[in-house]
Amino acid sequence: MAANWVTALKKLQDKDLRIRTLRSKLEMIPKEKLSLKEQANKNLAKVEKIKNDVLALELQLKQSESRIAEYKETIHKLETQSNMVKKNTEYQAMLLSIADYKKKISDEESSGIDLLDRIDSGKKTYREAASNVKLENAALKAEFMDLDSLANDLKKELAELHSERTAFAANVEDDILKRYESLLKKGIGSPLAAVKSGICENCHLKVTPQTLNSAAKGLVAYCDNCQHFIYTED
Ligand SMILES: [Zn+2]
Repeated sequence: MAANWVTALKKLQDKDLRIRTLRSKLEMIPKEKLSLKEQANKNLAKVEKIKNDVLALELQLKQSESRIAEYKETIHKLETQSNMVKKNTEYQAMLLSIADYKKKISDEESSGIDLLDRIDSGKKTYREAASNVKLENAALKAEFMDLDSLANDLKKELAELHSERTAFAANVEDDILKRYESLLKKGIGSPLAAVKSGICENCHLKVTPQTLNSAAKGLVAYCDNCQHFIYTED
């Protein structure tokens, strides 16, 4: 039979360690939510970038088309004027100029074909990315909501644990409780640890025979090394 102080403290510690675990889970949630949100925004930005790239290509195509229209108009003017010039040299110069504009138009047209191809494939990439991101972000949103409901569950359980631990704390002697709570506050290990084969289960070091002897008698005992409460298991 374990000593009474051990039984009472164990019950309290079970609740407190559970509280510690739940609290650290709860503390992680805002960070996890933030990272989900960042991922969703990154996904949207990726799609937005593809869309803007396509828009930029469409703008380039439009500009190229308006240059073609200008060149055509210029050619038309030159042709009209060439009918009226008398000097052969001037006429030849105009023909050269017209040929030059025709070459420019043909260059614009072939780069236009290339632009159209890039716009088509850009639009295809955009549609695929947008539908992928839609699915991905829906999954992220579901995860986000799950975290919210997990947080609620944790808060509820913590509230219950707190009232339970208050009841258990009332069964622990004041001076033991005080020392126990200060050990608990360190946030690592168990304030009350079993000793097995002479080894403290909190710090994993050997306790002295005298300490082991006290613990075996059920007296309040502390580990020689980590100073945590220890008890021997029957
Ligand atoms: Zn120890």
